[in-house]
Amino acid sequence: MNRRTFLGTAFGIATVVTVDGLKMNAQEAKVITMPELPYAPNSLEPIITANTISYHYGKHHTAYVNNINKLIIGTQFTGMSLEQIIKATSGKSDKVSIFNNAAQAWNHNFYWHSLKPKGGGEPPAALKQKIEKSFGSVDKFKEALTQAATGQFGSGWAWLVADGDALKVVKTGNADNPMTQNLKPLLTIDVWEHAYYLDYQNKRADYVKGLLENLINWEFAAANL
Ligand code: MN
Repeated sequence: MNRRTFLGTAFGIATVVTVDGLKMNAQEAKVITMPELPYAPNSLEPIITANTISYHYGKHHTAYVNNINKLIIGTQFTGMSLEQIIKATSGKSDKVSIFNNAAQAWNHNFYWHSLKPKGGGEPPAALKQKIEKSFGSVDKFKEALTQAATGQFGSGWAWLVADGDALKVVKTGNADNPMTQNLKPLLTIDVWEHAYYLDYQNKRADYVKGLLENLINWEFAAANL
């Protein structure tokens, strides 16, 4: 029986209707679901406004999730996790759209968790020790991450990653994700213009500074170690 699914614009919220008329929940249909935002849309204000969240989470992130589902239906990627799709399509010239949308869906979920209301401050002891070992100090790490975030030319992401025992800062362009280079993402900053333009216009450095001082979720980074 053909279980090809049709995904409407309301996809990800409740049910998916298959060609044979069955209503299935998203898990049964093996689609990628839109993850919940881990906090209220206005709770990152004033650093990131609810208006930005409404476009960034509500439109951009949602579009990547809808797109990846449309692209993988009926292919060998159906039923895979985003991480598996990313690894299976990385560097393949005939799979660029699938890679881009899967990676953007994954990156955005990771980004929302890299932030939290009343974040910032000091990292937990174990993470702080590793940061000091790799960067000299927490401030030096913040400088390196700021450099990566503001220095990324055009769209992309700045990351704290683990490379074996060492921690590193890397930047990636467009949808790219460090996991394709065997690095383990610990936290990320989205530096696509859609992440900050409504609140900061062209001032990416102000967005990065506000985020590092007030929103960074050290506990999330520590938990990813
Ligand atoms: Mn984004």
